[in-house]
Amino acid sequence: MLKLYPHSFHYLSGIFHWYLSFPFMFIRHLFIFAIFSISGFVSAETLTLPDFKQGTLGKHLQYFQELNGQLTLDEAKQKFRSSMTKKGSSHSISLGINVAPVWMNFAVNNTNDLAELYRLSIETPWLDVIDTWLVQDGKVIKHIAGGDAYPYSQRPMPYRFYAFEHHFNQGKTEVYIRIATKGPLAIPVHFSSVKKAIERDITSSFQYGLLYGIMLALALYNLVLFVFIRQKEYGLYSLYLFGFVLNSLSYTGQLHTVITYDFGPYFQDWLDIFLMITYSVAGLHFARLLLKTKFYALKLDQFVVRITIVIPVGMVIGFVFDQLFFSMVLAFLLNTCFAVLFIAMGIRALLANKPFAVIFILSSVTAAICITISTLAVAGFLVPYNGYTFKAIELGMAFEAILLAVILARQFRMAKLDKMIAETYARTDALTQLNNRRGFQELTQPIWQGIIRTRRDAAIVLLDIDFFKRFNDQYGHEIGDKVLVKVAQCLKETARKGDVFARWGGEEFILFLPETTEKQAYLQAERIRAAIEMLEIQVIKLPLSITASFGVAGSTENRFQDEPLSLSVLEPMINSADRALYVAKQKGKNQVCLSK
Ligand code: GH3
Ligand code: MG
Ligand code: MG
Repeated sequence: MLKLYPHSFHYLSGIFHWYLSFPFMFIRHLFIFAIFSISGFVSAETLTLPDFKQGTLGKHLQYFQELNGQLTLDEAKQKFRSSMTKKGSSHSISLGINVAPVWMNFAVNNTNDLAELYRLSIETPWLDVIDTWLVQDGKVIKHIAGGDAYPYSQRPMPYRFYAFEHHFNQGKTEVYIRIATKGPLAIPVHFSSVKKAIERDITSSFQYGLLYGIMLALALYNLVLFVFIRQKEYGLYSLYLFGFVLNSLSYTGQLHTVITYDFGPYFQDWLDIFLMITYSVAGLHFARLLLKTKFYALKLDQFVVRITIVIPVGMVIGFVFDQLFFSMVLAFLLNTCFAVLFIAMGIRALLANKPFAVIFILSSVTAAICITISTLAVAGFLVPYNGYTFKAIELGMAFEAILLAVILARQFRMAKLDKMIAETYARTDALTQLNNRRGFQELTQPIWQGIIRTRRDAAIVLLDIDFFKRFNDQYGHEIGDKVLVKVAQCLKETARKGDVFARWGGEEFILFLPETTEKQAYLQAERIRAAIEMLEIQVIKLPLSITASFGVAGSTENRFQDEPLSLSVLEPMINSADRALYVAKQKGKNQVCLSK
């Protein structure tokens, strides 16, 4: 059974910050070595109080690693005095994962005759065992033990990092720190007056509150969308955000100081890695669905599916057999793939000309850059370590969350437009662009109901093109179609505002004329008949003349005894107009007939 280390909490999250830093660390060590070779012996730096208000101590620290067994404080002091030690060259000292314990030393000189209250904090929450000795005039005046190997209640301060506060008396106080951990040894040591430290805590809380607030609001909103719309994208996106916030709370030590500090040492390790894969898996499946990768990048899509099954299953097996290290490596692997796969899917989508691909790439690359910034800051390379750079991950993720929300909103809008187009299509005749039967019924129904209720007039005109078959037979279907389009255009031009017209069947058209008596409708039909008669269609030699026959029926004439007018249907009136149309055809076509 492999137990990596019994009491440290945030090992994996440390890796998360760290996994991009290895190439840089090598270069950095060369760099430090170069400086060290030039400067030779370096002595501990002395900070003058109360002038020194706050700062990260990386560059003020002298340090060495305990390579041949544990040293006592006196042996360490000896080593600081006699042998070659190194000096921090950046804001945060970082020495790698699973390395020998480190000893660090600096001094404080209070020039005031009053004691000054200062806080020292070491701001990676996963360091196992930390000891600090304060030495004045060669005597140890205080020993402060902490680190996450200690139960929360026994730590020097109820705080998410190792931290203590001390009244520094007048004169010189030497500070010796020893840190032993099996996780990543990244050591941002912060030293400041307690007043400044509290101000910094408040600012930091607001910053986290804002970033988490944005992400949680989006997560909740998308959860609501998922519950009501039932589209998986929203659910996965929501899970992705919840998972990330929880993971962030966990690896920044916030969750474990408030809620889960008494759950035992292993609980938090397991929680960390399972939260980490929760948001990775949700994020990857969200990206698959959003970008619809299975339609153009099947192999990549299947790889994503497989990796999101195999790794979690492997981790659960690791959990069952209590193999923390095994599960941790798997989680770490998936998390590394996550950033790479996100960008890969974005690029494939872009190559396939998918909508949103550019925004998607922009958001995932930004997140990756922010992760790198945080990583470099913690690693103490290139980027200064401060409250902003440390929170770059959360900042990048909040930015990504907003951009992804933009994509979801646009996708929602596109789905709505598609639906509108489909609906319009279902109501429109493709050839003439007039309403079809369905469109006609939908449009006339509410008007007709209003007319019946208020006993006003309305009329129906049905028209049928005369000898239409001949156009088809003599000149071909195309000319027949042209005639239909021409007649439709003519109807559009002669229609009044409020008239509803449609293609009723092959070469039959219908008009619904609200606020129109049968007589007025007759005149209107006559005008249309004359207009159609004037239409000309140019075929090879001759202009073709077109005529149509009309049947008109109005609502006020009390002729619907056998088929009483009803609220729901126009049918009796249409049937009546149809009978009138038949009469018009019988009488020799190209004329208007009123229903009887
Ligand atoms: P009448 O004067 O008695 O109305 O005779 P008609 O030839 O106009 O009427 P009939 O109902 O006999 O023929 C209608 C023809 O219209 C039959 C069908 O092939 C044709 N038709 C129906 N829809 C279309 C269409 O969309 N395009 C074309 N080109 N022809 C169509
Ligand atoms: Mg006809
Ligand atoms: Mg016909």
